[in-house]
Amino acid sequence: MGAARVDRRRWVMTNYLAIGWFPSGELERARVLWPNLLAGWNVSSHRDYCRAVDHHLRQLQLADDTQVLLAPIEVKPYINWCAREGVDPAAPESRSKYSTTVATRGRVQRWPPERGKPCWCGRGKAYEECCGA
Ligand SMILES: [Zn+2]
Repeated sequence: MGAARVDRRRWVMTNYLAIGWFPSGELERARVLWPNLLAGWNVSSHRDYCRAVDHHLRQLQLADDTQVLLAPIEVKPYINWCAREGVDPAAPESRSKYSTTVATRGRVQRWPPERGKPCWCGRGKAYEECCGA
């Protein structure tokens, strides 16, 4: 049972913070449904949005043992999940709770990406030349 013990220790030592974000296409869908989604963000394109998300993550004062996990939110499954949970899809708390759910299913990317690796936003460029620039 050695492996199980190691996993449990890692779980205790690392705190995971799931952050939800809307991939390209999903953001546009979400903005139609929830016009106030990005109120105060001052972004006009998906690229601006991704850079703003990254900027926000860099501003967070995170403990050394906290790993950020970026959880993609797709509008349709998200709305279905909200209906099942009985929560308002327009509420930021619902997105936050859903992001944690997505993270527990493993559909996440670690942030920040390793040096030279593709950016989390899916544009295919290295992180340092994309949202991490
Ligand atoms: Zn990027």
